[in-house]
Amino acid sequence: MGKTIAEKILSQHAGQDLRAGDFAVCPIDFCFGQDGTSGIIIDRFKALGIAHVFDKNRFAIVIDHSAPSPNMGVSAVHKKLREFADEKGLLLYDIGCGVCHQIIPEMGHVVPGDLVLGADSHTCTYGALGALSTGVGSTDLAISLASGKNWFKVPESIKIIIKGKLPKGVFSKDLILRVIGDLGADGGTYKSVEFYGPAISSLSMDSRFTICNMGVELGAKFAIIPADKVTLSWLTNLEARRNGAGLRQPVLVAADKDAVYSVVKEYDISQLSPQVAKPHTVDNNAMIEEVEGTHIDEAFLGTCTNGRLEDLTIAAKILKNKKVHKHVRFIVAPASRSIYLEAMKQGLLAIFIEAGASVVTPGCGPCVGTHNGVPSVGEAVISTANRNFKGRMGNPDASIYLASPATVAASAIEGYIADPRKYLRT
Ligand code: SF4
Repeated sequence: MGKTIAEKILSQHAGQDLRAGDFAVCPIDFCFGQDGTSGIIIDRFKALGIAHVFDKNRFAIVIDHSAPSPNMGVSAVHKKLREFADEKGLLLYDIGCGVCHQIIPEMGHVVPGDLVLGADSHTCTYGALGALSTGVGSTDLAISLASGKNWFKVPESIKIIIKGKLPKGVFSKDLILRVIGDLGADGGTYKSVEFYGPAISSLSMDSRFTICNMGVELGAKFAIIPADKVTLSWLTNLEARRNGAGLRQPVLVAADKDAVYSVVKEYDISQLSPQVAKPHTVDNNAMIEEVEGTHIDEAFLGTCTNGRLEDLTIAAKILKNKKVHKHVRFIVAPASRSIYLEAMKQGLLAIFIEAGASVVTPGCGPCVGTHNGVPSVGEAVISTANRNFKGRMGNPDASIYLASPATVAASAIEGYIADPRKYLRT
């Protein structure tokens, strides 16, 4: 009987023949915490009474969730993280570097075949590189920081095959919102979700990150797109951008033909229209036609889901020579400093600013609700983020709609949820 990708990568790491349902302790290739979780990681690590971290090149702290600090309490946490990183000689990505899920791959900390843990739920993002990566709590992460290992229950796997070609004005965010709407927020609970098919193979890495980022919105442990020539080309470009600084050797892992899946689903997205997740759950899926015309007060372009260069480029194409509607606050948060810089060089930021946007520090922006655009009572936000739970952006009496960068840009112009396809005919 063949193996799935999760069974193979966990077996390779454990040095044992593992199958779904088995438990194993595996060495970790990289792990990290962000500013909301690293304070507890440090406390738990210190409580273990161990003086040294397992490998100071395989752990990072990313200050991204509330960056720059919005208040004294957060400033105290940031100070604690900086002091710990200094004391132990650890990698620290401070304010302005960007969102952890952009920084970790962008800095070459993950390669295909890796096993990566992060004290953040959207760590599943790096499955786009053909790695196994998942979010854990701060206590579990502290154990990895001390030992370089962690325990896993090998998950069952789901195979999702996406056929067809994305229509004009429809993007990978629409595709994954459709899948989540169909399978439900618990449709992949503690499963490893493998994505296949011509529609997946033709996606850029930026689009693939969007898909795997939202794997956890199915409840998945892992979300994986097997590494292929697109992945390898992205890694080659990354090495070039890092002035030849070497990456760890990628290990391309493919599932066996006779691997066993608990669920196999097929979709044809040739006729897919732009999708929107309505308040207050990610699986509350609607076609654009059902929600078009809904009033919005704020539009947000950014996050670890859709704050990459491709996303900014799509939005800028729609916003060029246009103005944001007078009752909309349009906030743009590039996912990293290098994306911010590249967007500036390419004139994308000028397009946003001339349209009336506020471009904020690379990082999580208003996604988690600590600063940078908390909506007021009764207001509606259209966002490229991955979650729309009550209170997600800092106000339980606001409503959040999730959509692609194109839909967010079109909606920012019109002041209500708008179909982006009419802006992308050429
Ligand atoms: Fe979490 Fe949002 Fe930051 Fe992503 S951008 S890591 S979802 S707070």
